Amino acid sequence: MQKVTIATDWLESCAGCHMSLLDVDERLFDLLKAVEFTSSPITDLKVPPEAGVDVGILSGAIGNSHQEEVARTMRERSRILVALGDCAVFGGVCVLRNLFARDAVLARGYMETESTDPGSRVPDSEELGALTDRAYPVNQVVDVDVYLPGCPPSADAIHFVLSELVEGRIPVLPDELLHYD
Ligand code: SF4
Repeated sequence: MQKVTIATDWLESCAGCHMSLLDVDERLFDLLKAVEFTSSPITDLKVPPEAGVDVGILSGAIGNSHQEEVARTMRERSRILVALGDCAVFGGVCVLRNLFARDAVLARGYMETESTDPGSRVPDSEELGALTDRAYPVNQVVDVDVYLPGCPPSADAIHFVLSELVEGRIPVLPDELLHYD
């Protein structure tokens, strides 16, 4: 049987959603009989293959131009795109910064915290992605097919979603796995 190919990446994220993915634990071994992970933030290969994958999974919100590019590439190369976790689904904690202007956020983060050295400035290297005007949930930038909320989603919920996708079904989370805490 041909394996289902999955690529995953994180955007503006604390990595907790991917830690929860690893919490699937030994059930991963069964999944790996039917699934091939082509790229992830915790493996050497980070970018989904140009040939595309069956399933793309993104955690985190979109808060800078680099993350926007990552999301668009994942969308273009994924037949089904999953938003993993509250930050990806509706912005989560990342959108709290939307209460403030972009320049105020940068000034607070780089120049005004209690532990910042005097004379610090906002970094402006071209190698750094530019902060977007707001933080966005993934579906405000690219189309999303499957939503998996939770902060982070439980390993059981992630296992359910992956199992359904492997069976060729769009997962519909049962009530007991659907939570937003
Ligand atoms: S949803 Fe929660 S666990 Fe996942 S990236 Fe956001 S803050 Fe971290």
